[in-house]
Amino acid sequence: MSSQSIDIETLVKANVREVADFPKAGISFKDITPLLLDAKVSQQILTALIEHARPLNLSAIVGIDSRGFLFGPSLARALGLPFVLIRKKGKLPADTIQVDYDLEYGTACLEIHKDAIKAGDRVLIHDDLLATGGTAIASAQLVQQLGGEIAGFAFVIELAFLQGRQSLRQYGSCFSLADYQS
Ligand code: AMP
Repeated sequence: MSSQSIDIETLVKANVREVADFPKAGISFKDITPLLLDAKVSQQILTALIEHARPLNLSAIVGIDSRGFLFGPSLARALGLPFVLIRKKGKLPADTIQVDYDLEYGTACLEIHKDAIKAGDRVLIHDDLLATGGTAIASAQLVQQLGGEIAGFAFVIELAFLQGRQSLRQYGSCFSLADYQS
């Protein structure tokens, strides 16, 4: 079967590498780098993200550090929209706001430039993968603090067994191209 005739979830799963016990024992890491090695596959994934985002009447795409920067800028460009970076603490040079959030062990901090979102902007938050939803929620909080509205979240991969989608519900709708059950 050619890659054009298979559905997008099958295409994603055929091109994502699952690495057992990375970065630690018990985690099955979903590595999206193989799908970037094939321009045709990567274009099909981008097209699926564009088709989802186009009707949402967006003012910006927000990508999360760092794998949200792989498709995020191309998605924004295709829709003629600004691309806004949310980065780990200490990486953005101008005035920022920050949010701390809990990880399995300890906490992390994300930042956004204060001038990157204007009050009333309608944004789509994008990352490579939804796990527990903590990173996406922290990102949504940054956007909301700047007066932005969350139109939704879009991921390439969703770890459905972690039920991140349920925690995102109060912020916006959730879309992913491929679900994993483990
Ligand atoms: P979470 O905040 O739990 O939803 O975690 C999502 C963030 O962690 C995303 O930026 C992912 O890139 C990364 N992540 C979490 N779990 C995995 C996994 N199993 N494979 C690849 N990336 C992951």
